[in-house]
Amino acid sequence: MKAHDGMYIDGAWRPAASGEGIDVVNPVDEQVIGRVPAGTAVDVDHAVPAARAAFPAWAATSPTERAARLAALRDVLVARKDEIAETVTAELGSPLPFSQNVHAAVPIAVAGSYAELAGTYSFEEKAGNSTVYLEPVGVVGAITPWNYPLHQIVAKVAPALAAGCTVVLKPAEDTPLTAQLFAEAVHEAGVPAGVFNLVTGLGPVAGQALAEHPGVDLVSFTGSTAVGRQIGATAGAAIKKVALELGGKSANVILPSADLAKAVNVGVANVMSNSGQTCSAWTRMLVHRDQYEEAVGLAATAAAKYGDRIGPVVNAKQRARVLSYIDKGLAEGARLVAGGTESPHEQGYFISPTVFAEVTPEMTIAQEEIFGPVLSILRYEDEEDALRIANGTVYGLAGAVWAGDETEAVAFARRLETGQVDINGGRFNPLAPFGGYKQSGVGRELGTHGLSEYLQTKSLQF
Ligand code: NAP
Ligand code: MG
Repeated sequence: MKAHDGMYIDGAWRPAASGEGIDVVNPVDEQVIGRVPAGTAVDVDHAVPAARAAFPAWAATSPTERAARLAALRDVLVARKDEIAETVTAELGSPLPFSQNVHAAVPIAVAGSYAELAGTYSFEEKAGNSTVYLEPVGVVGAITPWNYPLHQIVAKVAPALAAGCTVVLKPAEDTPLTAQLFAEAVHEAGVPAGVFNLVTGLGPVAGQALAEHPGVDLVSFTGSTAVGRQIGATAGAAIKKVALELGGKSANVILPSADLAKAVNVGVANVMSNSGQTCSAWTRMLVHRDQYEEAVGLAATAAAKYGDRIGPVVNAKQRARVLSYIDKGLAEGARLVAGGTESPHEQGYFISPTVFAEVTPEMTIAQEEIFGPVLSILRYEDEEDALRIANGTVYGLAGAVWAGDETEAVAFARRLETGQVDINGGRFNPLAPFGGYKQSGVGRELGTHGLSEYLQTKSLQF
């Protein structure tokens, strides 16, 4: 795999301050496939001033010019989509068709949506005797996780650039090659030097230096709640804007009138996709007691069908973490109906698609984010009970409701404390705001709501 031995700063690949590096490992065979520099505070200290220096000119470009750059960026991503898919597969381990259809295709759609929004969004409003200008916030420090390596980057960088902000990105240490490929694409798209900068490195070193840097005006973070809490505190102390996309423990509520088989099958597919490493995954399936045993049987069959068709999880640490949750599920008395801790392969960080039945709401596996291919099925007595269970975690990122008719599903969805709900298997929409209620985060990504995170208002009174 191609790897740059440098940081993309101020429009060029520059040597890193330290000689330290990070090995990139293929989770399928545990082989090292590349090495990237481990950036430090010194590199962040080069990148942030570059972004600062580029900010006034980029902020002053017309929205049409920014739209043209974003359209060019989308076109480069389209031209290099096979390379993107292969790179994500190499460093994340996802099966190639999933990398093509999701890891490459979704960020292309999101980049395209911001190319269009930049050109059509109104950056000026009237309110009584005032004219309100929507101006870019400034320099953005973006910190992203590995689970959707390119999507997480584009979901921050595209709206930031559309708004007129400049960016320093610290991508996840596990998936830096995709981030380097993205930097090449930004360069090819003709985005001016310094508007986008990349510092690879470790979270507590490069990530923390970026979040704490006084030259950063807004920190946009996606990842664990533990790190998010810390970043929120740092940003709060510095009176910086902050956007946090954190964990989830989404409920898939199957009401008695639903098409049970469809709801269960789509629900299992949702959890197993990307090996369960999706913050919005519906990891708790809620089924009425009269349909419970049938649903458990259907889910066990569906999970077994996945067999070894799912990819590994990203690294050895995540594998150990997920397996410890499976052990905890067993220890707390849940009934294992598919999968378990035995590895389906000799090599690689694989975990069997796992389903637990007889999960009760207070069990650890029903409360904490597992981030692996593990589904918990819970029983509810009536609708009020289902609502209590669905809302009974600290998270509120996503969810699903299935019912015989949409009105019934919508009525239930309106009572869920969560930022997104798919009704009877509704499709992913790159224009719909994505983000959390409660401890799932602060702020929204995607569409116009995602764009407005990077804007601040200035009101002129006449
Ligand atoms: P993480 O540590 O929160 O990583 C997210 C990003 O933050 C990475 O770029 C990481 O760098 C960086 N980071 C880590 N410590 C930091 C610090 N002190 N200051 C600034 N940046 C820092 O998450 P993870 O270790 O990759 O995964 C752990 C768990 O987080 C998962 O099991 C899952 O529950 C959750 N998670 C959630 C999402 C989501 O989309 N909501 C995505 C991924 C993970 P490094 O890559 O060097 O660690
Ligand atoms: Mg980490």
